[in-house]
Amino acid sequence: MIRSLPEFPLEHTFAQQLEGLCIPCSPARVPEPRLVLLNSELARNLGMDPEALGGEPGAGLFSGNALPMGAKPVAQAYAGHQFGHFSPRLGDGRAILVGEHRDPAGHLWDIQFKGSGRTPFSRGGDGKAALGPMLREYLMGEAMTALGIASTRGLAVVVTGEQVMREEPLPGAILTRIAASHIRVGTFQYALGRNDGELLRKLADYSITRHYPELLSLQGRARYLSFLQAVAERQAGLIARWMGVGFIHGVMNTDNMSISGETIDYGPCAFMDAYDERTVFSSIDQLGRYAYGEQPGIGQWNLVRLAESLIPLVDPVHPDRAAELLAGYLNAFPGHYLGAWRQVLGRKIGLAPSGPQDEGLLAEFQQILAGSREDFTMVFRRLSSWLRGMDPVSQRLPPLGMHWQSWLERWRSRVTAGEEDTPDRVSAAMDAINPLYVPRNHQMEIALAAATRAGDFQPFLRFLEVVTHPYLPRPEWEPYTEPMPAHFGPYRTFCGT
Ligand code: AMP
Ligand code: MG
Repeated sequence: MIRSLPEFPLEHTFAQQLEGLCIPCSPARVPEPRLVLLNSELARNLGMDPEALGGEPGAGLFSGNALPMGAKPVAQAYAGHQFGHFSPRLGDGRAILVGEHRDPAGHLWDIQFKGSGRTPFSRGGDGKAALGPMLREYLMGEAMTALGIASTRGLAVVVTGEQVMREEPLPGAILTRIAASHIRVGTFQYALGRNDGELLRKLADYSITRHYPELLSLQGRARYLSFLQAVAERQAGLIARWMGVGFIHGVMNTDNMSISGETIDYGPCAFMDAYDERTVFSSIDQLGRYAYGEQPGIGQWNLVRLAESLIPLVDPVHPDRAAELLAGYLNAFPGHYLGAWRQVLGRKIGLAPSGPQDEGLLAEFQQILAGSREDFTMVFRRLSSWLRGMDPVSQRLPPLGMHWQSWLERWRSRVTAGEEDTPDRVSAAMDAINPLYVPRNHQMEIALAAATRAGDFQPFLRFLEVVTHPYLPRPEWEPYTEPMPAHFGPYRTFCGT
């Protein structure tokens, strides 16, 4: 029986306005739902009462057994280039859009269940999710949010009381995911494939209304050209921020790139320890297509796919002319990215703002970093403590080696050139934005193993607490600053099955 819960007065703007891009579909009933995580802070931000969402009512609600009032769940359609190969029909195979929630500020948020059973897009899959990957996605989203990086977020995780069959039977779970929307580059590719100009225009106008309303005053092709530019700028900023914390998304397929500019679909993602542009963790990314250093280029590749999808809106009669116009906007992407990256890296080393004159200092910094394979998180804290004149050894940070000396001296003169820029001030500004803690791979494994194998959530909750306070020094959290011990062996991640 479907019980009504008044906490979610849902809207269904996507399903109502874009009927051709989704199929009604209900979550499967689960035998014994139990709420294991509730994001009270997020619930409050959304204007929901966390008290009402806990315990058994929460378990019923977030498992889909007791859908919220007025829910009209749908599975969304999308296409996508996966590792460069086009699939015309992917879609939500293990996710369901329950509806949209309006927060007190008037913003609309998708409420999606991930792992709630088969949909018309499931193909051979079971539509279900295992607990480990759902906890992982929840923690990654919270860590990214704490780092100030736009991300989808988990509102709740329930275990379903059933096992899902992977290589071994695993506890099943459902993640309730909150997103600015789930419109992807692949959604546009799907609409293009329908050969329905009206549908494509409706999708573009819907996306603009929801994410780039300032463009609504533009008419005709100018609106869609500016839309491409706006999406590209947001992606440039997002990827620069990923690069700044050593985040490797791992599966930047066009169906995993959000039009809103949020980080989405945490499958095989991971954070890099030692700095190396070629770092790849995903077991299926054998050619390193989605390696750390490839991300800006892949971002642009995906945006070309978006641009192709917009051709009929820019000039349906002269597609060549449309392509030329769109390309003009795309060619600005490397410049946007480099500008964003220079600001991100510049701030990390205490240059705010940094200008073209700092290019040499930044490039050399990256060179030395690559040569010495420093830990990409801690090296910035070591720089600030060197600047402060503290003996890093007494802080238990390894000192920077001799090969840094000449660069360090030049860097010190540059960052302390201004009268106000005392070493203490500059290093404090650096420490305020350079995290001590990111979700390190071995810590993630330890936390997930305890939760999924022994039912002990304490290590996971402690890890969550640490990565959601990334700048807070605490002696008892020091182990979380350490790189993966050698005995963990090479680290591999898997798509979130
Ligand atoms: P992802 O790797 O999460 O980006 O998923 C790629 C595609 O595979 C999407 O269309 C998913 O909906 C689909 N998919 C992934 N896992 C499952 C599953 N267990 N059952 C059905 N479809 C799935
Ligand atoms: Mg995906």
